[in-house]
Amino acid sequence: MNYRWISVSLATLVALGCAAQHQKARIPKSTVGTVVIPAPEAKDNKAPPDPSNPFVGANFYINPEYVKEVEDAAAASPENAEVIKKVAKYPTATWIVMNSFVAKIPKVLAEAAKQSTADGKPILSAFVVYNLPNRDCAAKASSGELSIENGGDQKYKTEFIDKIAVEFAKFPKQRIVVFLEPDSLPNLVTNLTQKNCAAAEKVYKDSIAYAIQKLSMPNVSIYLDIGHAGWLGWEGNRVKAAKVYSDVLTQAGGADKIRGFVTNISNYNTVNSLDGKKLGPSNPCPDELTFAKKLTEAFATVGITGKKFVIDTSRNGKPTRTTWSSWCNVKAAGIGPRPQASPDPLLDAYFWIKPPGESDGTSDPKSSRMDPSCKSGDSMENAPEAGEWFQPYFIQLVKNAEPAF
Ligand code: BGC
Repeated sequence: MNYRWISVSLATLVALGCAAQHQKARIPKSTVGTVVIPAPEAKDNKAPPDPSNPFVGANFYINPEYVKEVEDAAAASPENAEVIKKVAKYPTATWIVMNSFVAKIPKVLAEAAKQSTADGKPILSAFVVYNLPNRDCAAKASSGELSIENGGDQKYKTEFIDKIAVEFAKFPKQRIVVFLEPDSLPNLVTNLTQKNCAAAEKVYKDSIAYAIQKLSMPNVSIYLDIGHAGWLGWEGNRVKAAKVYSDVLTQAGGADKIRGFVTNISNYNTVNSLDGKKLGPSNPCPDELTFAKKLTEAFATVGITGKKFVIDTSRNGKPTRTTWSSWCNVKAAGIGPRPQASPDPLLDAYFWIKPPGESDGTSDPKSSRMDPSCKSGDSMENAPEAGEWFQPYFIQLVKNAEPAF
């Protein structure tokens, strides 16, 4: 592998991208007459994203839908209501998981504008963009609405990403964070022996490159999902990951289009408690912060530098599972560190990406989306479908929170 070539080629692409942007930005000086403001359209947004940490100096959008879930949970469990209500004060990401969910975006962004407070700080809204064709190729719990067989790759572009880009473009003053396609590229790193993942390889790469190209805007910070320490922490996996991600970023027009990477989405690894040492002593990354550091080294070998990380801390308060492969509604887990900006020089933020209380997947064997992982000894029983409210699980997460509420 000629790494030098890759870095030269990335630099060239970025330079070309900038040149194109300057050309586009040159608006002809019009003479007289009516100024027609064209409707926002999905286009290649060549203006690079703001190169600073979007979480710094911002207030975070509080999602009323999540607040309602938490308030209902408090009403259903009066003996725990006092502590439960504290959870409603924290921000969570909004998951855009079907084409029809794009309609949530203008509502969130308009509501976010209203949440601006007297302190004059901007509001940051975070979205998980999660609707690839053949989604969740190595598991069943979160399979989605689009399939490659039914032209899902085209629908993903025109009915999902293009439409999201149009909505984002309407709110150029808002800070927007995108957590892009959980689990997808990590599955290409380790799960190509599974036929569903092998079949999805090209479409995943093309679709993610397309999404990066379209959603990269001056006020939009993209973090590409990169699994977690217990998945890609081993050296061989990190080396492969650097290649897969670098290929996708090259295809997308350059690594500068993303702010960084997001780890631990919907997962349970601690930030820095070395808890992975007992789950897999051969893994040099026993927690997420070590993983972020080692990934940074791996990316440097392919010429990608300066990337920052966000860690999902919604459920990583206590390490409780018996194996790293348990990912579904893990018993005895607790809410982890509260969302905050810049907890470490390498980290842009801790954020609650998986809304605490929403299920990872059903344990009902009659459901076509029942994944065996959701019936493992580490998983809480009687779980509803992915994304649905799971009251006993929520109560457990609140009671076991670390730090406590
Ligand atoms: C599910 C989504 C849900 C999200 C957040 C994912 O596992 O597939 O439907 O919105 O979790 O709870």
